[in-house]
Amino acid sequence: MVAYVLNKHGKPLMPCHPAKARILLKQGKAKVVQRTPFTIQLLHGSSGYKQHITLGVSSGYKHIGLSAVSGKRELYASEIELRDDISKLLTERREYRRFRRYRKTPYRKPRFLNRRRPEGWLPPSVRARFEHTLKWIERLTKFLPDPEIIVEIARFDTQKLQNPDVEGEEYQKGNLYGYANVLEYLLARENGKCQLCGKGYGGNGNGWQIHHIIPRSKGGTDRPDNLALLHRKCHEKIHRNPKLMAKLKKPKLYKEPAYLNSFRLQLIEELKALLKDRVKFTYGYLTKIHRNKIGLPKTHANDAVAMTGFTNPKDIDIITIIRQVRKKKRSLHEATPRKGRTKPNTEAKRNSKNTKQIRTKDGKLWCLWDKVKVDGQVGFISGFTSGSYAYIQDINGNYIRLAGKNYKQVPLKQTILIRRNNNWVERVMMA
Ligand SMILES: [Zn+2]
Repeated sequence: MVAYVLNKHGKPLMPCHPAKARILLKQGKAKVVQRTPFTIQLLHGSSGYKQHITLGVSSGYKHIGLSAVSGKRELYASEIELRDDISKLLTERREYRRFRRYRKTPYRKPRFLNRRRPEGWLPPSVRARFEHTLKWIERLTKFLPDPEIIVEIARFDTQKLQNPDVEGEEYQKGNLYGYANVLEYLLARENGKCQLCGKGYGGNGNGWQIHHIIPRSKGGTDRPDNLALLHRKCHEKIHRNPKLMAKLKKPKLYKEPAYLNSFRLQLIEELKALLKDRVKFTYGYLTKIHRNKIGLPKTHANDAVAMTGFTNPKDIDIITIIRQVRKKKRSLHEATPRKGRTKPNTEAKRNSKNTKQIRTKDGKLWCLWDKVKVDGQVGFISGFTSGSYAYIQDINGNYIRLAGKNYKQVPLKQTILIRRNNNWVERVMMA
């Protein structure tokens, strides 16, 4: 656990121990600038020594894992959950509009001038994911001095599959790396299914093996089209009974998820342009090998820390969980009836469902997703029920109730505001 430090000009310095931060604050040599993550700013000059920091970025479909390490210390870890409901909401909006125009507009000229996709276009969902990743890297560099950034670009290295003889750093480290690369490829190609029995991972003692369709002794190559994914037991069966070879399912043509395939190059280019030589790239199979080596279970944050080459998992103690939330809802009425109703509520604007903020009688303002404390518990306002009650959730989306009560409404009278809302709810947890 560390406290982040800025110099008097607001530039990041190496993080320090929280105890040291407390002393500096007590002596009046520093002030608190941020609670999550805990950051102080020095009020006077400082030597400003720096050590090498590596920041691993694991960017998945819905999650981003981040981990910054320096030597044997983990300085930062977080797991960010992005919203995945946006494209669904946009489709819904489009349908409502279509229907409304069908009802209300007799004729509307078709538009045609705005159909061309500009250069560098990415599907909005991919673009958003990419930009969120960049944004969070940028946020971290505000309190971590000059990290080197490592980004995972794919699960395996297709170029090394086409040229299995290619010589590279990983190949020189031993056969394990080449094997793991091919295995990850075959798992993706066969969708994790055995080509003989068609079942998924067989567990301990019946794990995956790679079968050469034409044996190497007869000139068969290591190219993926000569390789089959089999359980260990199925592999033995095939060698005992070569007639089973005919039963082997033909390998599928491997297609990468569309967004990865066509946009990876562009993403690499954009990352390089933005981060210059501070960015490096790696592959999922390498991450996985290293993560297993240091004995960490699969999570996004653990992937990120494995990427950096970290070797001291004992130091991993806290993690910031961050969730993207929907702060606004602009529709003024319900389009479809709510659960338990037959008609949509035409007065929904006045109703709690769409309330973004309220002012209680004592003059205090409360907004959706404000971070608050109630009854000693920290949570986030997820909705309002009336002029003076709110629903409060913890970071995992569970409702916070007052001690001894089984209803979810919490009186705002007893609630303390910790931080005004933004588009993210975040909470520091033990890892
Ligand atoms: Zn099998």
